[in-house]
Amino acid sequence: MYSPQPIDLAWMTYLGIFSMQHRGQEAAGICVSDGERFHVEKDLGLVTQVFDERRLDSLRLANARVSIGHVRYSTTGSNLRFNAQPLTTRTNKGILGLVHNGNFVNAREVRDTMLMEGALFATTNDSEVMLNLIARESHMDLVQATAAAMQQLKGGYACVLMSRTQLIGFRDPNGVRPLVIGQRDGENGNVGAYVLASEPCALFAVGARLLRDVLPGELVWIDRDGLHSLMVHPGTPTPCAFEWIYFARVDSVIDGVDSHAARLRMGAQLAREQPVEADIVVPVPDSGMVAAIGYARESGIPFDYGLYKNPYAGRTFIAPTQEARELKVKMKLSPTAAVAGKRVILVDDSIVRGTTSRQIVNLLREAGATEVHFRVCSPPIKHPCYYGIDTAARKELVASTHSIEEIRELIGADTLSFISEQGLRDAVDGPGLCLACFNGEYPAGTPMVNDLDKLA
Ligand code: SF4
Ligand code: MG
Repeated sequence: MYSPQPIDLAWMTYLGIFSMQHRGQEAAGICVSDGERFHVEKDLGLVTQVFDERRLDSLRLANARVSIGHVRYSTTGSNLRFNAQPLTTRTNKGILGLVHNGNFVNAREVRDTMLMEGALFATTNDSEVMLNLIARESHMDLVQATAAAMQQLKGGYACVLMSRTQLIGFRDPNGVRPLVIGQRDGENGNVGAYVLASEPCALFAVGARLLRDVLPGELVWIDRDGLHSLMVHPGTPTPCAFEWIYFARVDSVIDGVDSHAARLRMGAQLAREQPVEADIVVPVPDSGMVAAIGYARESGIPFDYGLYKNPYAGRTFIAPTQEARELKVKMKLSPTAAVAGKRVILVDDSIVRGTTSRQIVNLLREAGATEVHFRVCSPPIKHPCYYGIDTAARKELVASTHSIEEIRELIGADTLSFISEQGLRDAVDGPGLCLACFNGEYPAGTPMVNDLDKLA
């Protein structure tokens, strides 16, 4: 956030990252500056675990002007404390802080070159390569330095950088990862604070309204003179389809596409493409919820609450190991009496490894479901994501090694079908899309070295 007037930026940033908790649960951090001091607090854990009243107080600078915050889910760089963000570094332009969502596909090469030239790295995080590149160019104006760094790193990313006096946001040329701009109403005729965030719900959390999305390849900056923009790298928009399938909150509008409406259309599309006779439509909560409503409405088959989800369990997929994921499914889901004696259409957003799906089908059968028809709101995931969604290594992706019929057998469903790629495009009905994990066409490049995880 950037606020021309002193406001409680520590608290606002806390509210903002709390509303983004679904995007990452491994670590959280906030950095605040009052133009002189620069204070960072970060640690492993959920937002509410990392920040207590005392820690938040330490961030409450009286004349706070600029702040950034982050929730982390590791794709590149392991789940270690020193990989938590914001990352900070000292430069010619004073101290800088960076938060990053996404993945740079050429981070390894750029990092190797920089190491040979004498650069030092404190983390195994690809975000640090971006921060170091900016720092290295910081003899220039900070906006120019950032634009120069954007030209060197490729991939899917949205970043927010802060100095003591400026807030800078930038989005990759394909706009794979989302980034929005918002503004609070100013008090007493003053200009209100500006906010940059991955999703609009973070803007609303701090009382800001959505101004617009940052455009693919655009850099925006905010200083005492207001909001400015520079188109660094115009490209073809191909935002990540997964944002609408699963990742974004259901109350978010990204690149003009409402996530709730898109999921309803996905469900309806699936019902038209893959109809089946059954008694009830049951969502896998929460990610399959809205699509199941869409399926039920379109098919005329009643929607029912067939699976209870313990609201205190986190997202299963994001648990970093297989054992953790399996245990979490048991802790998280249990069938209700609604499914007993029923032919069930089970709707979920995606099948990644197939482990959750198998367990869920099992749960329903044990609870007396007579048939289980699995309907999936994304096409089969056959390829890894190099742009910041941890859809697992290729060998773990069940659809990369198994046919649909084999997956059906593996998960124990009576029938299994996925939305078609065209059906998904039609349902999102927005800009062009990245569908690389489904069709292998990577709009923002692929890594040359295949061990992105090993930025050691
Ligand atoms: Fe999103 Fe898949 Fe593209 Fe990754 S590969 S950015 S998950 S659509
Ligand atoms: Mg799910």
